Amino acid sequence: MLNLVKARLAHGYQAIPNPLKASINPAFPGVPQLSESLDMDMLNSVCPTKAFCNKGLDLGLCIFCGACERNFPQQIRFQPDFRLAADTREKLFIQPGQKDYVEKAISSKLAGRFCRSFALRNVCAGGCNACEQELGACSNVNFDMGRYGIEVVASPRHADALILTGPITTNMAYALNETWKAIPEAKLLILNGACAISGGLFAGSETIDRSFLDEHKPVLFIPGCPAHPLSIIHGLASLMGQK
Ligand code: SF4
Ligand code: SF4
Repeated sequence: MLNLVKARLAHGYQAIPNPLKASINPAFPGVPQLSESLDMDMLNSVCPTKAFCNKGLDLGLCIFCGACERNFPQQIRFQPDFRLAADTREKLFIQPGQKDYVEKAISSKLAGRFCRSFALRNVCAGGCNACEQELGACSNVNFDMGRYGIEVVASPRHADALILTGPITTNMAYALNETWKAIPEAKLLILNGACAISGGLFAGSETIDRSFLDEHKPVLFIPGCPAHPLSIIHGLASLMGQK
């Protein structure tokens, strides 16, 4: 027993004190800054998902591989800022020279509705399992998103929201729809990762069926491939109005 107590004391306090303001490895590719004179065609020539368009860089399509920054560092720099989530699809288009992405990304319109408790049901609709692993890591001892009352639950009947990972393969389209129907009203839809938001590397594939998203409007989009646990927690807590 004494040895157990000693071992527990040796562990110390392992949780990140404040995940919403945590410092992250400087190499982390987070919110990018784009040059005012962006050359979309040049950047798209090295981008595997062709994430640059006339609206800027689509963070919902970017897989954060870093190829654009490595080849054209004068055009784009990724900052070590994990606050990537946004509450509309349109806000994910970061424009040349834009510096207020984080301030505008989430307007916590749901503040007060889920202030103490937010239960999520995850559906992995053809993801590679990395997005799911990082979502699982949000509940571990380091990230501990349970401190905000956020948890991933085992049954859709107990959920307030569905958090989708993966591009929605045709084989998973039916199961996704059934899970959605099993969640009580008024339910929310959250898209986690590039695949869920845009199809990612699989966008346009004939093996995916994204018609579910034509009928249901997401309230939160969390970019990444996979999204970092700090990005996920920051997005969810911000949506809840947590400071
Ligand atoms: S980091 Fe994003 S925008 Fe840049 S090349 Fe990779 S996928 Fe394309
Ligand atoms: S977004 Fe990336 S990490 Fe997530 S499921 Fe798709 S390929 Fe995997």
